[in-house]
Amino acid sequence: MASKREDVEYLEYIFSKFYDIGANSYGGVTRLGYSKVEDEMHDMFKDLGENEGFDTYIDEVGNTYVANDISDKKYYLIGSHLDSVVNGGRYDGVAGVIAGLLILKWAKDDNLDISIRVGAFRCEESSNFGKCTIGSGLITGELTKGDVGGLVSKTGKYIREVFNNKGYNLSPKKIENIKQYLELHIEQGKVLEEYGIKVGIVSDIAGPRRFDVSILGEAEHSGATPMDMRQDALCAASEFILELEKLGRQESYRKSVTTVGVINNGPNVLNVIPGEVNLGVDIRGIDIDSLDVIEKGMKSLAKEICEKRNVNIFIQDSGRFDPVKMSSYMQKKLIECSDKLKISHKVMPSGAGHDAMAFSKICDTAMVFIPCYRGISHNKSEFSSLLSIYDGAKVIYEYLKGEM
Ligand SMILES: [Zn+2]
Repeated sequence: MASKREDVEYLEYIFSKFYDIGANSYGGVTRLGYSKVEDEMHDMFKDLGENEGFDTYIDEVGNTYVANDISDKKYYLIGSHLDSVVNGGRYDGVAGVIAGLLILKWAKDDNLDISIRVGAFRCEESSNFGKCTIGSGLITGELTKGDVGGLVSKTGKYIREVFNNKGYNLSPKKIENIKQYLELHIEQGKVLEEYGIKVGIVSDIAGPRRFDVSILGEAEHSGATPMDMRQDALCAASEFILELEKLGRQESYRKSVTTVGVINNGPNVLNVIPGEVNLGVDIRGIDIDSLDVIEKGMKSLAKEICEKRNVNIFIQDSGRFDPVKMSSYMQKKLIECSDKLKISHKVMPSGAGHDAMAFSKICDTAMVFIPCYRGISHNKSEFSSLLSIYDGAKVIYEYLKGEM
């Protein structure tokens, strides 16, 4: 068995192999789902697996696997993703994939008779096609050809064209024989770092509800239109944003959050009253009742603002997932393993979505979080230490040994 130092050096080695792929001049990486850069990431993952003497294969939608056993036996699937957002960081997704490779190596060194496959799932981020977890969604049946076939990439390519060119299949066979799914991921929040805790055992993954909100007023001359004759769409939007924040605060005791992350103001000209504003709303939580309260509240809020400000507001669904629960058996066991290894832990929900959401619909699923610097993610400053990845991998490996 290799020493801790050798293990961390191995992590450093495989991490460095991905480092320059998709790197941009701003210091971050852009590795969009189903792009050439993501292909390169998957090729590298495959090479790293083969170099260690493992079997590798690619499924019908382009997900890549490294395995110590490709027989029909049931296996543990450890996975995450290798794509990123535009100008994103190097740890989101990659941390989970390299942790998987280290775990496979440990199992080999220890001669463990346990079937493990490490999966890298395509297009987890919604940055390229406006939809997340496409690779894991399609093979688990959570997404269908109908859901994704019409999607268009940032560069104007239909996903069905991309699939045709690569010989992938938008209606793949469902993945089979998974015993359990495990994913290590950076927390993407600052809870672990703030508490000085080494790993998070995820209890639930928050379900997002997203909306495109269009507010239509009247674009008129800013000098010639008296204050009481205006239909200012941006003022209406401002009220909407602040009231939605209030709704989020009221429901924060149930761990829900509300965000308006997108705002487009039209015509966005100094001497014209804003006539049309489009907002992107993201509501998340682990409690469906709470999400319902916020959604209902948002809709009546829109009605009130329309009447008060003489504008029109249209709210359109742009995607929703229900919150999902992680396996309570696996949570309990992972806690025991952390205790045994003296690695401090905290049970916590995940505010962000992950491939684990798709797998939780077809098999028992667990997630282990590791701290990341100041909680920064989807940003070039994203950082997590290799020692943290090592700790998280240790907990998962201990769990697997306990399952034998
Ligand atoms: Zn991720």
